[in-house]
Amino acid sequence: MTRGRPELLEAGDETIDDAVRHADPMVLRGLLYQLTGDEELVDVPLAMTVVGGCREMYRIAERSDVERIRAKAAAFLREYRDSGAGDLPIGPRERLHRSLSLTAGVEVDPRELELWVEELALDPLARGLRWPEGTPPEGTADFSVLVIGAGMGGLNAAALLKQAGIAFTVLEKNSAVGGTWYENRYPGARVDSPSRVYTHVYGVDFPHPYPYCPQEVNEGYFNWVADTFDLRDAIRLHTEVTSIVWDDAEQVWEVTAEDLDGTRTWRANAVISAVGFLSRPNIPKLPGIEQFRGRWCHTARWPADLDLTGARVAVIGTGCTGYQLIPEIVADAEHVYVFQRSPNWIYHAPGYLDPYPDQVTWLDRNLPYLTNFSRFSVSYMQRPQNTLTALLVDPDFADEHAVSAVNKAIRDERMAFLRKKLGSRPDLLEAMTPTAPPMSARPVLVDQDHSILDMLLRDDVTLETRGVRRVTEDAVELPDGTRHEVDVIVLATGFRANDFLWPMEVRGRGGRRIEELWAKDGARAYLGSMLPGFPNFFMVYGPNTNTLSGMQVVDMEELTTRFALESIAGLLEQRRRSVEVTEDAYWRFNGVLDAAEQFMTYMDPRQSNYYQNDFGRSAANNPLDTRLLWNWLRDPAGRRTADAPLEIDETLLDQYDAVHPRFGADLVVE
Ligand code: NAP
Repeated sequence: MTRGRPELLEAGDETIDDAVRHADPMVLRGLLYQLTGDEELVDVPLAMTVVGGCREMYRIAERSDVERIRAKAAAFLREYRDSGAGDLPIGPRERLHRSLSLTAGVEVDPRELELWVEELALDPLARGLRWPEGTPPEGTADFSVLVIGAGMGGLNAAALLKQAGIAFTVLEKNSAVGGTWYENRYPGARVDSPSRVYTHVYGVDFPHPYPYCPQEVNEGYFNWVADTFDLRDAIRLHTEVTSIVWDDAEQVWEVTAEDLDGTRTWRANAVISAVGFLSRPNIPKLPGIEQFRGRWCHTARWPADLDLTGARVAVIGTGCTGYQLIPEIVADAEHVYVFQRSPNWIYHAPGYLDPYPDQVTWLDRNLPYLTNFSRFSVSYMQRPQNTLTALLVDPDFADEHAVSAVNKAIRDERMAFLRKKLGSRPDLLEAMTPTAPPMSARPVLVDQDHSILDMLLRDDVTLETRGVRRVTEDAVELPDGTRHEVDVIVLATGFRANDFLWPMEVRGRGGRRIEELWAKDGARAYLGSMLPGFPNFFMVYGPNTNTLSGMQVVDMEELTTRFALESIAGLLEQRRRSVEVTEDAYWRFNGVLDAAEQFMTYMDPRQSNYYQNDFGRSAANNPLDTRLLWNWLRDPAGRRTADAPLEIDETLLDQYDAVHPRFGADLVVE
């Protein structure tokens, strides 16, 4: 056994006892069971609470059992320390089903075990490619992939292409990697998904000092990915792709980009576009902005030298970004004017802004596999069975403000929080109460005691709901002529979310433009990734991949990337040149999407945001149970499960059977 974990080797018993007191006992229980098989961990009474109107959460009912599990964990850790703290095997694979179920508090459906073991992230390359012979097939050296974007999706594609031995180049418009987390540097920028599930499966041990990490930690993570997988040489920064055109004769993509020296062209067999969809700022045309003598910016282009000390600031836009920014600037600014068109439902999380106690991060580093089981626990809480109901409209539910019993429970909770905060100010309470039901827009996560609501009560913050008529040299003017003199205008007005791939020119077979394909009702894709007539073109975080239940953004990016990589591997192994989805399959999949979308809260007519496009549908969101997507996206070339039929919950069978993402079925290979 190799000796390791110097920090643990140095630790006294009291450090260990103190650390385990900060751990989630359910996580400790499953992890210890996996490592030791201790049957005393099994029969422990649990209590269930419903969180957020629909999520069933289990905890250990008796304090004495919590203490007992913690004592076992401490004893285990002391013994591990005393034995040298070296490599520790995870224990029998057959035990995982029970260990995960003990962590979750309910039995994990055995049909879903592979999915959840992937989420457990024991295998860092669980969502990468594996070659049966261990090396890529002959001909791989003649195949190249061009990846567009070096953010969360592009870096992952690059890392897994590199690991698979497939040649690739990444083109990135910015001067650094990180995508969204490089660009969004406004004060207060931080993730609102739990950081435990905001890394790729290979990033499970990346240190998370916070439950919800701020921008700089997230940006640091993406730099870590670039360094860990040694990707820097393959990434061309300052290189913005302007066009992608399929060459029918040669069966390759011609990719044109602008870099610091001018225009350059690449030819590649496949393109993976990882440009994101919350990427291009939405800059509204504010009449008069050109005469404004102060400074103005969009939140995603925050100037490094913008000092708000003593400034009068207008913030226009109140989505996640606006609500996140405002509490961070009020202390410096002389006055903040908040221009709100529509309020958003606010969800508070105690300690949203706080770092973890040192004991948590110490235990993450020193108790083997704790980060894996913690990640699984957080991820499983979000499983579709636990979260999808919050999004579903119940046609038989009659209520003016809510669309289902669950939705009403969520609304009641949110209203209680609003009343608690703004009860003394009926004017603000009214202004901050959305008319559309909860979950019809992106939920905005805030700190319990340091949120926009607390800020609105300050004398130096003014909420304006009357709109903006124009900007003058020194003020924002309202429709009734009222002027608010300001020094800085911040546009927190979001992104051109429905302009997928914009402003790139994308042309497929026969020169067909992407706009023609999407003319009917906006951007669509097959499984969020593929387009008919655009062979070997794959999107990561493409149309309808914003899942609101079950999978996180990172998961969907990993799954769509796996779909691309498995497709490419299938081509290489079968010595074919191209794969594309049929037009029929594209529409069949979209039919399944459209049918499911009818029951989604986010289609509520009282709502208008990027969840709905100009054609009255969502090009962004995915209404399906994410277990379907996981199954569909896993094996297009039949490399992984050629003989084994996939198993899926019977309630999903109709949807599942309508889509056949396999070479020779929905996918045509040449
Ligand atoms: P957003 O949700 O699209 O909100 C844009 C805001 O600007 C809305 O309040 C909108 O009002 C307003 N607006 C747009 N055009 C306007 C105009 N011409 N005049 C006045 N107001 C205008 O954008 P976002 O807040 O940047 O968030 C976008 C997405 O990024 C989020 O949904 C989330 O997915 C992601 N995000 C995540 C985090 C996080 O992880 N913590 C943080 C920030 C953003 P209406 O609602 O009336 O249209």
